[in-house]
Amino acid sequence: MLSIKDLYARVEEKEILKGLTLDVKPGEVHAIMGPNGSGKSTLTHVLSGREGYDVTSGEISYYGQDLLEMEPEDRAREGIFLAFQYPVEIPGVSNIQFLRTAMNSIRKHRGEEELDAATFLKLARQKIGMVNLDPEFLKRGVNEGFSGGEKKRNEILQMLMLEPKLALLDETDSGLDIDALQVVANGVNALRSPDRAVVLVTHYQRLLNYIVPDYVHVLANGRIVKSGGRELALELEEKGYGWLNLDDDKVA
Ligand code: ADP
Ligand code: MG
Ligand code: MG
Repeated sequence: MLSIKDLYARVEEKEILKGLTLDVKPGEVHAIMGPNGSGKSTLTHVLSGREGYDVTSGEISYYGQDLLEMEPEDRAREGIFLAFQYPVEIPGVSNIQFLRTAMNSIRKHRGEEELDAATFLKLARQKIGMVNLDPEFLKRGVNEGFSGGEKKRNEILQMLMLEPKLALLDETDSGLDIDALQVVANGVNALRSPDRAVVLVTHYQRLLNYIVPDYVHVLANGRIVKSGGRELALELEEKGYGWLNLDDDKVA
């Protein structure tokens, strides 16, 4: 599904990713861990095509297509979804309008018919129950005045509605209470299927008790320095990153 080969990327003239290689197959859940500032968020932004992130060498293919040649909107239409790092507020656009527009854009791209308002609303009401948000949230401006936990639930709702092929979740370091953690986990687990994949950036071993990853990778200094199964996350929790001898890196 996703094949990243020897990727180098920079932000503001600063080289951040330095030879990153990663393969993700359908059905897999990959957890990315690593010290602060190692390039985890940069990786998710490069994959989603965010402006200001320049790939200087290496390759990324997505279902055999050159991802780097695809516009960010096309990446989204082709099933790539990036959640979390900075949930945006879109005042004046209601959640329901936003979701319906996004969903119909994806459906149109796939050659499917647009969902009529009633069918869409029924689906949205069903999914909003999965993230423990009041249906009233559908009418509110996207993330407008939402608490941190509500934004997170809303992002999971977006993900559940859009049913991405490749979900990228970039977990922030702070403010995830146990309820929000459960919602994130339930959302990801609901999405898991043989034809979808998830790349989850997380600082929390704890989250991986609920979302059991197939692979855990340590990203340090702009590349993957160690990969393993879920036991690697437990080992990291126990020992930190020091034992990996990541010379140039600050340890989270
Ligand atoms: P992580 O998510 O692993 O903590 P990031 O990918 O956010 O790391 O950042 C990697 C490095 O890139 C850090 O040193 C950070 O300061 C730097 N960086 C990120 N974004 C920018 C930017 N817009 N301008 C300059 N430096 C940046
Ligand atoms: Mg960081
Ligand atoms: Mg980050």
